[in-house]
Amino acid sequence: PGFEDLGLPDIILKAVRGLHYTTPTPVQAASIPSVLAKRDILAAAQTGTGKTAAFLLPAMSNLGHVVHQGRSRRSAEGRGPKMLIITPTRELAQQIDSVCTQIATRTKHIAVTVVGGVGYNPQKSALRRGCDILVATPGRLIDLIDQGVCNLSEVEILVIDEADRMLDMGFLPSVKQIVALTPPERQTLLFSATLDEKTLGSIRDLVRDPVRVEI
Ligand code: AMP
Repeated sequence: PGFEDLGLPDIILKAVRGLHYTTPTPVQAASIPSVLAKRDILAAAQTGTGKTAAFLLPAMSNLGHVVHQGRSRRSAEGRGPKMLIITPTRELAQQIDSVCTQIATRTKHIAVTVVGGVGYNPQKSALRRGCDILVATPGRLIDLIDQGVCNLSEVEILVIDEADRMLDMGFLPSVKQIVALTPPERQTLLFSATLDEKTLGSIRDLVRDPVRVEI
């Protein structure tokens, strides 16, 4: 199938053309219709397969585009994130942020990225100004939640990226702590390079009746 056969709205198809993607990768073709149908996803896909767009394109479609009053950044004031993406490393967070920002030039969503190893203040003021999409590494997100600057009660879509790597890095308790602060009726999209029994045992309870995607 082509991108136009997957059910994506026009505004997102325009963003796809802006990214110069011509044909969906297998993980995109398999995931996009189910995400649009608001199903949870449990996907086995490695970096390099196009998994970032596999969750961003349909999830940002589900959020709807934002009509701002003017172009003021201030119009997001007080908005909590409607989409939260948790990823294990700063590099992965930056890659996700870059694709997300390109799509957001069309949809007008405001995306904020919070990662460790850099100062707190710019991240705190960005969160206070409000956002639609938050990309985060687990440790820094927990710190910011503890400091009272991040509210996850409006999250509609949660993405857990590279779940097996988060397990290997010892992030499972942090991830579970974060997930517990999001509404139980959220849509959850979980991506992992491997989905062996051990990994599945640790993460299965984070998704509800998921569509399994294996490529
Ligand atoms: P990812 O697996 O999300 O890290 O993506 C790997 C690379 O594939 C990135 O550089 C993307 O820009 C690129 N990519 C993702 N989807 C497509 C597509 N449908 N067509 C061409 N390139 C793509």
